[in-house]
Amino acid sequence: MTDWQAQDPEIWQAVADEAARQENVIELIASENIASQAVRAVQSSVLTNKYAVGYPENRVYTGNEAIDRIDNLARQRAQDLFGAEYANVFPHSGTQANQAVYAALLEPGDRILAMSEHAGGHFTHGQAHNFSGQLYDAQFYGVDPATELLDYDQIERQAREWQPKLIIAGASAYSQLIDWERMRAIADEVGAYLMVDMAHIAGLVAGGVLPSPVPVADVVTSTTHKTLRGPRGGMILSKQEYAERLNDAVFPRSQSGTLEQIVAAKAIAYREAQQPEFRQYAQQVVNNAQLMAQILNETPNVRVVTGGTVNHELTLDVQATGMTGEEAANLLYSVGIATNKELLPLESGNVMEGIRIGTPTITSRNFTEDAVQTVAELIGTVLNHPQDEAVLTTARQEIQRMTQQFPATR
Ligand code: PLP
Repeated sequence: MTDWQAQDPEIWQAVADEAARQENVIELIASENIASQAVRAVQSSVLTNKYAVGYPENRVYTGNEAIDRIDNLARQRAQDLFGAEYANVFPHSGTQANQAVYAALLEPGDRILAMSEHAGGHFTHGQAHNFSGQLYDAQFYGVDPATELLDYDQIERQAREWQPKLIIAGASAYSQLIDWERMRAIADEVGAYLMVDMAHIAGLVAGGVLPSPVPVADVVTSTTHKTLRGPRGGMILSKQEYAERLNDAVFPRSQSGTLEQIVAAKAIAYREAQQPEFRQYAQQVVNNAQLMAQILNETPNVRVVTGGTVNHELTLDVQATGMTGEEAANLLYSVGIATNKELLPLESGNVMEGIRIGTPTITSRNFTEDAVQTVAELIGTVLNHPQDEAVLTTARQEIQRMTQQFPATR
């Protein structure tokens, strides 16, 4: 990263600052990760110069010989990795993947039933402030107040009443298993399509540590940059019977040219995810999150929502510290630990009384149990001593030591 410094020193400096930040912070934002050198390098290749409009062998412009090979490889690798009959690797983001699925399966005004934001659902699943809630008519399901787990009997009752055309499962902040088969049964009972958005857990599914929704759902969407550890982007997997409708919904209905440098990076990431080391990484992500949850559950004044985790993330209820989620996240960031504020399933307002903690990035940095224990203890100590400068200074020093011990460059 030296040859363009003189050409644009301001942007160069901002990128250098971000690289330093990533190196010096313990990154616990559950949706982030560290992509490999190859995934990063191909994104700054000549592929960014090429317009690729349409699908392989059916392009608007000439000159797509190599691009067709890249697209076909990426699509085939996605299908092989997840055992899918169909894959579309063109959506620029998770949001665009969801948009294309709705366009393929629904008409404006059709009914959706999806997980509420309080329970951990994503806002592109029908929330009023998103196109999905403006174009379609959405209702939301939540969790059982006693267990904070999805209440499938209640979801079934809601589905019978609401008669949605599409049921969406999948979350941004839900730390327990979602029963794909039960969601399928509910969808079948009311004649709805079942879409699973596995954006957060795609890497754990690919790594074989969580059950795959691919054989169960009609359509599965995902991002490629979270636990999957590829470039920022989206994808769609489905049964063959939806192929034509989904192809059309992606191009030409919702996008024109593909980002070929990103498609190539997705292809590299899919191949990486087929290696044995990726399975070890996926298992370690979960081991690290479970240890983090166990230690934080034993820490005064904080509580792990649902009591634990089976995946890469946990939501921490910080109400007893007297801080909001935002204040807690800012406090932790002031000592070098990055998290984000999060809604709690049972909070009545929209204050965000929790924080979300995830282990993908630290696992990619080779943190194992000893280091995770130190981080969890530091989080507990800092949250319980927000005003104690001596405690905060010691935490900062410890975090500096750890970030030096575990470099962020892969
Ligand atoms: N779906 C889920 C479950 C997500 O968590 C996210 C990202 O946070 C998205 C979709 C949206 O992905 P993107 O930011 O790539 O649009």
